[in-house]
Amino acid sequence: VNPNRKFFVGGNFKMNGTVDMINSLISHLNNAKLDGRTEVVVAPPSIYLLQVKEKLTPPAQVAAQNCYTADSGAYTGEISPSQLQDANIEWVILGHSERRSMFGDTDKFVADKTKAAIANGLKVILCVGETQEEREKDITMEVNERQLEAVTKTIEEKDWDHIVLAYEPVWAIGTGLVASPQQAQEVHADLRQWLGKRVSQKVANSIRIIYGGSVNGKNCKELAQQPDIDGFLVGGASLKPEFVDICKSVD
Ligand code: PGA
Repeated sequence: VNPNRKFFVGGNFKMNGTVDMINSLISHLNNAKLDGRTEVVVAPPSIYLLQVKEKLTPPAQVAAQNCYTADSGAYTGEISPSQLQDANIEWVILGHSERRSMFGDTDKFVADKTKAAIANGLKVILCVGETQEEREKDITMEVNERQLEAVTKTIEEKDWDHIVLAYEPVWAIGTGLVASPQQAQEVHADLRQWLGKRVSQKVANSIRIIYGGSVNGKNCKELAQQPDIDGFLVGGASLKPEFVDICKSVD
């Protein structure tokens, strides 16, 4: 946490939920009367986006979990950034490791999607992260930099104002093996430094870098104390009442 950057918590429901379950998650969140000091964004499966948009009390916001690059056309099964904008969905998660590893989202594809999303007025939760094997080989920063470099080459400096960067080590996602506050802080600081050199010091100072991977109501407070951790992207725990505790990590 750094007082100059607004703390950010995203809830990534992934491919979970039903109409009823999502209604009850949203009413729980509404009842928590979050004070707006932390920016809160929830990302339901696309079939529930409009339902969540209608029920969720602002200032909490809504994110899609993915989008395509084109505005419209013969792309069966895809959703365009302009359709998200038309539906008043503010955010989109791009580059999640599950999309990279299972659905063919390459670094370049993620970069093109990021560009298209921002061009259509969306804000982007951009995910990067290394696997266990890559960490053991000591190429953590190389991998994260490679993923970021593709985006850096594709967008302009001003576009970074519309991005929250999520560091999500693949080995920590859904495993219960949360990165230690020191491990996360180290990578966050390196990513910020890299952005300072490669993009600008202004972007490095202002961008929120959030951590994702087995964050829960118990471990969030200590992680949030790290100077370069500006929030969380939460999977499993976003489907539970404790998500509210994570939204209040810095209260
Ligand atoms: P997890 O997922 O919190 O269930 O580990 C995080 C994510 O994939 O964003």
